[in-house]
Amino acid sequence: MTTFTINNLVRENILQLQPYISYRDQKSPENAVLLDANESPFGTCNRYPDSTQSKLKNKLAEYKNIAQQCIAVGNGSDELIDLIIKIFCEPKKDAILVMNPSFAMYGFYAAINENEVIRLNLDRNFEIRKEDFIAATEKTVSKVFFICSPNNPTGNSVDDLEFFIRNYNGIVVVDEAYIEFSERKSALRLLGKYPNLIVLQTFSKAWGMAGARVGVAYASEEIITLINTVKAPYNVNSISQELIITMLEDESLFNKNLRSILDEKEWLKRELMNLECIDTVYPTDANFFLIRFNNAETIYRALLTENIFTSKRAPQIPQCIRINVGSREENQKLINVLKNVKS
Ligand code: PMP
Repeated sequence: MTTFTINNLVRENILQLQPYISYRDQKSPENAVLLDANESPFGTCNRYPDSTQSKLKNKLAEYKNIAQQCIAVGNGSDELIDLIIKIFCEPKKDAILVMNPSFAMYGFYAAINENEVIRLNLDRNFEIRKEDFIAATEKTVSKVFFICSPNNPTGNSVDDLEFFIRNYNGIVVVDEAYIEFSERKSALRLLGKYPNLIVLQTFSKAWGMAGARVGVAYASEEIITLINTVKAPYNVNSISQELIITMLEDESLFNKNLRSILDEKEWLKRELMNLECIDTVYPTDANFFLIRFNNAETIYRALLTENIFTSKRAPQIPQCIRINVGSREENQKLINVLKNVKS
């Protein structure tokens, strides 16, 4: 990685872009008269949000012990996935590398940007085979490798993350949407060591803020500057920015809810293990279970009839359904249906 320079990976037109800069976000005294953005003088949400999200980043910087310049905030991590692909992948020319199965949105945004998706089929324990990874990188050129850990929809964490970051000749995005549920260490600790690393996290899962749409990218200052350049200026609304700051100021609710989801996960696992309709409950570091049923289609339909929505993974993962941990009442309803279903 000694010869690594980010500019060799970035699309030429992106390097030429000038970021949109809102003067007031750089410099705005308390008593400033704001007649620069054609807003209304009336209302409680009449002003555009801070395009630099500086208060929020300040809090995050303190919370994660990472420099503000190494943090970008997105309208959910979905937006950040989209922006990362746009920054590095030339349409119709470049490719991304993904785990298979994994989170579908990497492929979705690559398709919108007309980039090929190279898939690394996981082994039977849903791990990446190192030899397949090496073969794929020797045979094909891809610009961005999305590693989802813990992986959605399989639930397991990727072993030996550093091996993949070290041996990939491009940008490695470690998507840690479910990291708070896991006992594994975050890849954030590797940021100083690998200039090609981007870590994605989100407030949508353990923080319980999916409706606020806030995701975060942590990376080198160079990469973060690129993300800030291409993002829509007002990508994160002011209400969400304030909400997240409030959450970060008092972690007690987050800790309490996380504890209760993890306890509930243990309860649900015990209940699931006793069910006859189930073949395998896969190990998981996330807030969901990937479950192999004897007859997934029947189960999925039986649950739907009772208005219980789950995520059917067949045919990609045969006979499997992904089910997330809910409240005790929700989990109990799920178990009741599964106990009585004839499959
Ligand atoms: N990455 C993974 C692995 C996910 O499962 C999800 C949401 N299902 C996301 C990213 C997107 O999260 P956000 O709500 O922050 O856009």
